[in-house]
Amino acid sequence: MTEIIDGNAVASQIRDDLTDAIETLADAGARPGLATVLMGDDPASQTYVNMKQRDCEEVGIESIHVDVDGDAPPEELYETIADLNDDPEVHGYIVQAPVPDHVDYREVIRRVDPAKDVDGFHPENVGRVVAGDARFRPCTPHGVQKLLESAGVGTEGKDVTIVGRSDIVGKPLANLLIQKADDGNATVTVCHSRTENLAEKTRSADIVVAAAGVPELIDGSMIGEGSVVIDVGVNRVDADTEKGYELVGDVEFESANEQASAITPVPGGVGPMTRAMLLYNTVKAASMQADVDVKLP
Ligand code: NAD
Repeated sequence: MTEIIDGNAVASQIRDDLTDAIETLADAGARPGLATVLMGDDPASQTYVNMKQRDCEEVGIESIHVDVDGDAPPEELYETIADLNDDPEVHGYIVQAPVPDHVDYREVIRRVDPAKDVDGFHPENVGRVVAGDARFRPCTPHGVQKLLESAGVGTEGKDVTIVGRSDIVGKPLANLLIQKADDGNATVTVCHSRTENLAEKTRSADIVVAAAGVPELIDGSMIGEGSVVIDVGVNRVDADTEKGYELVGDVEFESANEQASAITPVPGGVGPMTRAMLLYNTVKAASMQADVDVKLP
């Protein structure tokens, strides 16, 4: 029987475990605070930001939200960033992507105080991940590592094929998994849109992580028998539902499920983990800034 890795359950456990740390910090006068910044009014971004705010409330993290007009000059966003960098009650914050076209997202990220960069996207934090000295692991790759751990899937010596080389999923996950560490020590192949013979690379892997943003790109014929499949993809496809669409992963679940020993569903796999790991990074940021030791899950 294929194990269905339940991201909701693992994320819920992580949130429970974080609650103690949050109370310890609050008792020490440093209740963790997370700010979200949204420039413009993209409905999907609005939904993501609302979810992050709700997640904070549930575990006792203070949440602050700042809206910046989508037509404002970049300097207005930079001012917000400078204010958040200076605000002692904000231990971490995220600038929701995408930003409007007239704003350079890389410049935005460079202006975030690396100590408050709970997305882990600032070049200093990226460099620290590469160097094996992570301050904040980016939330989605960290969530993938936690899911593997929860399913008892070790990565040491394993062949891992990652499909996707983005700065937020593929690249940081590859960097984390090759580290000389208990949750690393893997042999990693990173595939992308120019990769030839993709199926060969996925079929020979012990663990496949799909993060391409292409609905059902990976089917059962591309999965080796007994391998572990982590589906990061979240894609909207037209469907005869109330909303007119449904969410599907980058993996064709039914056929991959027949081959795999363990697999994550979409939704209910990686998505809730990404959200939980943002809370984790916020607690870690508060702990470092307040110089109060807490036990992290
Ligand atoms: P992206 O568009 O930035 O990157 C996609 C990557 O996939 C690129 O490196 C590209 O080269 C590669 N790719 C595209 N088509 C390919 C193909 N046919 N064969 C091989 N490689 C191909 O995307 P992203 O931001 O990394 O997101 C990827 C997917 O993961 C999306 O569906 C996104 O919605 C989802 N996502 C989910 C979470 C979550 O929490 N569950 C978080 C981040 C992203």
